[in-house]
Amino acid sequence: MNDAVRPAQQQDPPGLTAPMTPQPDHGEQSYVGHGLLEGKRALITGGDSGIGRAVAIAYAREGADVAISYLPEEQEDADETARWVREAGRTCVLVPGDIRDEQTARGVVTDAVEGLGGLDVLVNNAGYQMARRDSFADVTTDDLDRVMKTNLYALVWITQEAVPHLGEGSAIVNCSSIQAFQPSQSLVDYASTKAAINNLTVNLAAELGEKGIRVNAVAPGPIWTPLQPATQPPEKVEKFGLDTPLGRAGEPAEVAHAFVFLASPVTGSYVSGTVLGVTGGKPVF
Ligand code: NAD
Ligand code: MG
Repeated sequence: MNDAVRPAQQQDPPGLTAPMTPQPDHGEQSYVGHGLLEGKRALITGGDSGIGRAVAIAYAREGADVAISYLPEEQEDADETARWVREAGRTCVLVPGDIRDEQTARGVVTDAVEGLGGLDVLVNNAGYQMARRDSFADVTTDDLDRVMKTNLYALVWITQEAVPHLGEGSAIVNCSSIQAFQPSQSLVDYASTKAAINNLTVNLAAELGEKGIRVNAVAPGPIWTPLQPATQPPEKVEKFGLDTPLGRAGEPAEVAHAFVFLASPVTGSYVSGTVLGVTGGKPVF
């Protein structure tokens, strides 16, 4: 058996890390920091698991204190991320709450700023999709509400709340997707939010440039995170990522480097308004 194939498996959204086979790699044993985010304070939405956890571990090892937001039912995953951040000698502020609610979303920023003593980096990483359906006709209003509120409304609310705290040299990194460029029919609503996030990234970069705030996005390809077994049919989970030029799904740890590059004033100082693909070879243009 090709070891890029994984066992068919299914969870309910939002999904947890423990039941996943194999376990994802968040860089726990491999990520080595180089002081690229020394003294920075970062809020990472959806920082409990998957890409967000890998980013939290990388940021902490690069010298940043971190706040993570997540859904209350993901507490066990959030605790595990916090353990790694604290093991790196950094502060981890935990901010549970459902960001589909405007007051909660805005409150996440308030709590993060209070817990960290300020804010330098915002990573809009929380996201939701539902792919267990056959056609456009099957998109329900509940799906649409959950996808749009999580991926777009919350991103706008959280960014609006964060910007007044960000100063010269700060950065916003949004999480886009290969779906913005090569949309799957089963993800029609989700893909459209990711295209909107690309557009919003360019627009915000133009507005915030004069304040010395850079705005970019990372567009991951298929990455092995709880989102996949929680929202894809089991037979798609088995073949997840096999259709990329590199022939496999990526690990969260492999995406974290891009979030570091874009957030760091050392590596990203003249990079703004761009979307960086980490896709296993699928095109992002
Ligand atoms: P994940 O499930 O580990 O992370 C998504 C997180 O979003 C959850 O952990 C949860 O904490 C948060 N979230 C979702 N709904 C929320 C809500 N209503 N309130 C508060 N928090 C909420 O999965 P992931 O794959 O690491 O996802 C991170 C980002 O990466 C998402 O934006 C996703 O769209 C994007 N992405 C993932 C892939 C992939 O293949 N895994 C590919 C491209 C883009
Ligand atoms: Mg999670």
